[in-house]
Amino acid sequence: MGMDRIADRAIIDGKRFAAGLLDDITARVKKLEEETGQVPGLAVVLVGEDPASRVYVGSKHRQTLAAGIASFKYELPAETTQEELMALIDRLNVDPAVQGILVQLPLPAHLDANAVIQEINPNKDVDGFHISNAGRLATGQPALVPCTPLGCLLLLKDRLGANLSGLHAVVLGKSNIVGRPMVQLLLAESCTVTIAHSRTRNAPELCREADILIVAVGRPGLVRGDWIKPGAVVIDVGINRVEAEGKSRIVGDVAFEEAGHAGAITPVPGGVGPMTIACLLSNTLTAFCRQHAVNID
Ligand code: NAP
Repeated sequence: MGMDRIADRAIIDGKRFAAGLLDDITARVKKLEEETGQVPGLAVVLVGEDPASRVYVGSKHRQTLAAGIASFKYELPAETTQEELMALIDRLNVDPAVQGILVQLPLPAHLDANAVIQEINPNKDVDGFHISNAGRLATGQPALVPCTPLGCLLLLKDRLGANLSGLHAVVLGKSNIVGRPMVQLLLAESCTVTIAHSRTRNAPELCREADILIVAVGRPGLVRGDWIKPGAVVIDVGINRVEAEGKSRIVGDVAFEEAGHAGAITPVPGGVGPMTIACLLSNTLTAFCRQHAVNID
């Protein structure tokens, strides 16, 4: 198992890349305002008191404002009914100041999250979870793409160049928010894609074949050093809180210290995590431009 230290140049600095992306978005929003007199607007809906969700929503709100995008925060009580939430979505769907709508998940158990997501106007669905966007992505049409896999793709292209054609990508995990849209993005890049999940019988062997290994499982240290082909690019999406020696820390799904022979690897924290909000704001800008038929690239 490769216990050799991970070279600095092999570490994919997602924090730095995300900061650059945010600078770029901020500049484009400014240009948009100068040219059209308008700025994009993002509505974030939080229901209930989940502390982690509150932190995420607060952070999204601050970064949205910092990029010059209008932020509309809706904090609804835990006892909000399905009808009340659907009515809010219906209002936001037709609100001309709002181009992006995000409902923070998970919702309290009495609410039907899928029904709420499918109620969002697909053109404003900046999380990319609406079935229409999932279908568009799967059939190669312009879509709003889920933020986390989009961030992974940007990091991959930064490291490997724009052409990923013919590379073998293995995606570990098949959730609707990470694994599946990641598979579709890689297929659109003409990668050869293998999908593995909890019922896969030979995950280590499959992973060892990967030029690109994307891990989105939620099991700390699941992927060991000997699952990684020398030179492979490893993207660790996992965010796991572990307790050790009375302290709590965040680790990924890959045993990072065993990955010295990887060509490149994202650390946790500081890898994929910071890309998600940057891609959310990028999607909000994309949604604005499509809704207003403007181009500011
Ligand atoms: P999820 O919905 O729980 O899906 C996990 C996937 O991993 C499932 O497809 C599951 O397979 C598979 N799996 C479980 N155990 C496995 C095993 N032993 N071997 C191989 N595959 C296994 O999770 P998620 O929402 O995709 O999130 C995955 C991780 O990414 C979590 O740690 C989450 O916190 C993190 N995450 C990070 C970001 C970010 O960086 N911004 C965003 C989203 C998620 P089955 O389908 O067969 O059950």
